[in-house]
Amino acid sequence: MGGVGIAGGGLGTLALALVGYFFFGIDPFVTQQVVSQFDGRGAQEQGKVGTPGDQAGQFVDIVSANVNDVWATKVKGYQAPKVVLYEQGTQTGCGLGQSAMGPFYCPNDASVYLDLSFWREMETKLGASGADFARAYVIAHEFGHHVQTLTGTSRKVQEAQQGARNQAEANKYSVALELQADCYAGVWAANASAVSGGRVAMDNGDLEEGMKTANAIGDDTLQKQSTGRVTPERFTHGTSAQRVEWLKRGYESGDAAQCDTFAE
Ligand SMILES: [Zn+2]
Repeated sequence: MGGVGIAGGGLGTLALALVGYFFFGIDPFVTQQVVSQFDGRGAQEQGKVGTPGDQAGQFVDIVSANVNDVWATKVKGYQAPKVVLYEQGTQTGCGLGQSAMGPFYCPNDASVYLDLSFWREMETKLGASGADFARAYVIAHEFGHHVQTLTGTSRKVQEAQQGARNQAEANKYSVALELQADCYAGVWAANASAVSGGRVAMDNGDLEEGMKTANAIGDDTLQKQSTGRVTPERFTHGTSAQRVEWLKRGYESGDAAQCDTFAE
């Protein structure tokens, strides 16, 4: 669990730290940068594609198939990303992937990379029921970045970032991109049951769990936890209130057109 700051005791704090680590994740644009820090360290293995036998892998499989089914109804010519499960480290189109990076999407090879050992640890510590919706939300958020790549939004954002006058301005584009991925996760949740004939359905309390998770992983909340201060110009994913708001907007509308985070 390298790099995870777990302050104090108690499951609440631990859950929050895990989830924060989980979601803080890696932006597609900084992946290359981050990867270079890990170069030459840790074991490498081939990531696994296909239907894994264990429970955690099957969960990924079911949710991924469902998220694909939702987006196939919404994006013309939709093509599913590759989902790669790995432990420790694996080679990716964005360099060496390491479990310390959390889940991420690599646009170069259109793949979602998920580190299973981290998920198992989360499950052991939180119990499967507490982690279920949070994990589904993570998958749907990363698929959201895939949709942004297919629709050309990611490329436009990258271009805008290259033309930005400073880091703070570039970060604003990153925030809009991340909030849109949250909104897309909500759009998935709203349509999950309908496209699967009820096979994938939200339990009572799932959305509330999602809101709580979104609230726990806002930049302001995480910054306050780690440094005691809030520095808005360094936000890359949005505040807690924004993340809750956009997840909710996606969920309540079920409509990707309502996810224009760039307009605001
Ligand atoms: Zn993201």
